[in-house]
Amino acid sequence: HAVVVGSTNWDTCMHLPHLPVPGETVAGGRLQAGIGGKGANQAVACHRGGADVHFISAVGDDQTGAGILAEFQTMGLAVSGIKTVPACPTGVACIFIDARGENCIGLTAGANARLTPQTIEQYRELITSAGVVLLQLEIPLETVMSVAQIAAGAGVPVVLNPAPARALPDELLAVVDILTPNRGEAAALAGLYTGSEPGLAAAAKTFLDKGVGRVLVTLGADGAVLFQPKAGAGQAPATQRFAARAVTAVDTTGAGDVFNGVFCAGLVRGLSCEQAIEEAMVAAALAVTREGAIASIPTREEILAFRT
Ligand code: ADP
Repeated sequence: HAVVVGSTNWDTCMHLPHLPVPGETVAGGRLQAGIGGKGANQAVACHRGGADVHFISAVGDDQTGAGILAEFQTMGLAVSGIKTVPACPTGVACIFIDARGENCIGLTAGANARLTPQTIEQYRELITSAGVVLLQLEIPLETVMSVAQIAAGAGVPVVLNPAPARALPDELLAVVDILTPNRGEAAALAGLYTGSEPGLAAAAKTFLDKGVGRVLVTLGADGAVLFQPKAGAGQAPATQRFAARAVTAVDTTGAGDVFNGVFCAGLVRGLSCEQAIEEAMVAAALAVTREGAIASIPTREEILAFRT
């Protein structure tokens, strides 16, 4: 099985003619609300990618949280690892989007901030018996560290999607098997310019030098690139390119989440890293042709149909 540990939010997305300025009310909005959060998106993508997924997360003891749990159950995603935190709201993202696709976002972490290393302890066995563990950075960093260390201690591969980007301690990087930043996150984490191929390789090398097993950078419509260490000190990493599927993108939000979830589903189903990347690429391409976050995540049948 795969274990995904991360955030669950309720996203209220409002499409407006233009973004409000301070004090302004903009009428004529179109509301699109639904489950969000990188953890939830990736867990659902991993589930639809054909893996047996255990999602460890937290919601508040409010109606929003109860609604999210019910929706997960309808989707067939196990909710036994999702904690309902008493006297705490569910995490919420308020998103305004204008006609050109520019957005501004307000976020309250709510229960996500209460997913602590203590909570994780009760899922230790689930983590140590997993085929892969997938993490992002929308929950407390000490929780991410704790899960990664428990998994690595049991020889379970750790995939870290370092989003949203933030400085990461070396102890964390040392136990990550596959780091999956997008281009911007790779630049932010490495503190290097990644606008060129050599720049990207230099950024990847800084992570590999800190003990990361492989670095898989996603490049939007340009696909992805996998960096692996080469034997011999000071060697540039080995590089493998993967082209994205050509599609007409409608909404690229959450492409990385679909990619990460389906990639890990592939790994836990026994695919090679390269095969799992190809499948993730197909799933993410399909997702960007549709609006919405969770609603746009393709099923395994759709992925297979698109491939052939
Ligand atoms: P994020 O959503 O985290 O910014 P990326 O934009 O790098 O991540 O996208 C992740 C993956 O989604 C890419 O590697 C690619 O496979 C797929 N993808 C994203 N945008 C497109 C697109 N316009 N066309 C086809 N595939 C895309």
